[in-house]
This record gives sequence, C-alpha cells and structure tokens, in this order.
Amino acid sequence: MKKVTFRGWDGIVAVITLGMKRGHRDCHGLTKRESDKRYRVWIKKDQNEKEELDTLIHEMLHCASWQSEEDWVAQTATGIADALYEWGFRRVD
Ligand SMILES: [Zn+2]
Repeated sequence: MKKVTFRGWDGIVAVITLGMKRGHRDCHGLTKRESDKRYRVWIKKDQNEKEELDTLIHEMLHCASWQSEEDWVAQTATGIADALYEWGFRRVD
C-alpha cells in the first residue's frame, strides 16, 4: 500500500492509496469525497505505466473539479497522460 497526500487547488487534500477499495476491483480508480476539501483516492495496482498515469490524473481531476462531467474528466485525463507520456514522464519507484 502506498499513500500520497497532495495539496493544491484551493487547499484540497487527497489521500491516494495504491490498491483498490474492496468491491471495486474492476475499476481503474475511485475517488470518494469525504468533505469539501478532503478526498480519498484508490488507484488499481498492476496497471501499465500509461494507464496508471491516466488513472491518477483522472482521479485528481475529480478532486479538483468534483462537479465536472465524467466524459470531460476522462477525455482531459487521457489527453494530459498522453502528452506527459509522450514527453517521457514515467513513474519511479
Ligand atoms: Zn471518473
């Protein structure tokens, strides 16, 4: 299990866990809103690097803009992930 806390977007705090919440194993990621400023994010393990980057950005966008439509979040996350991956960004363990 890996936990990361990030701050930004007007003081939002998200706690990110690598590994899916029970009952959501088919999802790539999941975000639960715990309050206006606090979110809990689960990222599925064993995705390839690009999928994992896309999923992390996707869930962070939900935190930053909870009211946004799923289609917009998905398309934006994939666009950003593609650009970062093309530019050479990779996860370092
Ligand atoms: Zn989503």
